[in-house]
Amino acid sequence: MAGFLFDEMIFGPVNSRRLGISLGINLLPTYAKVCTYNCIYCECGWTPNRRGMKIHLPNKEEVLQALEVSLHNLVGTDRQPQSLTFAGNGEPTMHPEFSAIIEGTIQLRDRLLPQAKISVLSNGSMLHKPEIFASLLRIDNNIQKLDGGTEETIRLINKPLKAFRLNEYVSTLKRFHNLVIQSLFVRGEVNGCMVDNSTEREVEAWLKLVCDIKPKYVMIYAIERGTPVEGLERLSREELDAIALRVRNAGIEAEVYV
Ligand code: SF4
Repeated sequence: MAGFLFDEMIFGPVNSRRLGISLGINLLPTYAKVCTYNCIYCECGWTPNRRGMKIHLPNKEEVLQALEVSLHNLVGTDRQPQSLTFAGNGEPTMHPEFSAIIEGTIQLRDRLLPQAKISVLSNGSMLHKPEIFASLLRIDNNIQKLDGGTEETIRLINKPLKAFRLNEYVSTLKRFHNLVIQSLFVRGEVNGCMVDNSTEREVEAWLKLVCDIKPKYVMIYAIERGTPVEGLERLSREELDAIALRVRNAGIEAEVYV
């Protein structure tokens, strides 16, 4: 399947399973997905090769102006956002002005809609950049991906396009005080190879990492829409609840979103 792309820079507000009434901010192109990962379940489809591709990203001024207009239109209505959410057609922290945009968003939020949360949905691949890490410390919902307990499983599910070391990633996540972990559980066959991060062995390894990282809470969810790999299985509510219970029993808050 081709995948679904957001065709606007500011989109919604949508009713988000995880964040309530959420105004989306897409810092990536509106015509193509740009990401450092190539997850088998990505709703945007496979990540295209960027070599030779013309990539136009909105600049800081364009983003903040459009966001201000949207907020002026929405504040005081029944669609007033509960979250200003950086998500969209790929990995938001890849934007070269990400930190400045977060700073401007904080100022707009404080001025126009102080009760709204600022959320970033990220795959965590840019956390080695100090300015990205520092910006994520300043937001309310710093939501980072952890879809497996072993490097092998993460490679199969998320297909990082650059070097990935799970132990380094975990060490970085441990330095956040405002971290939310998002984990998608899925099983299916990819190129003749079975992928399943919901087996006992996998969940145990993942839970060990979660306990080591100690996030504020864990978001557990399943595939919802079409995926680039055909035939991936959507886990049942009961299976996800059982995983969430194990997290709670370990003393960490967890919520299932289906
Ligand atoms: S990190 Fe997100 S945008 Fe990137 S491939 Fe995975 S699901 Fe898609």
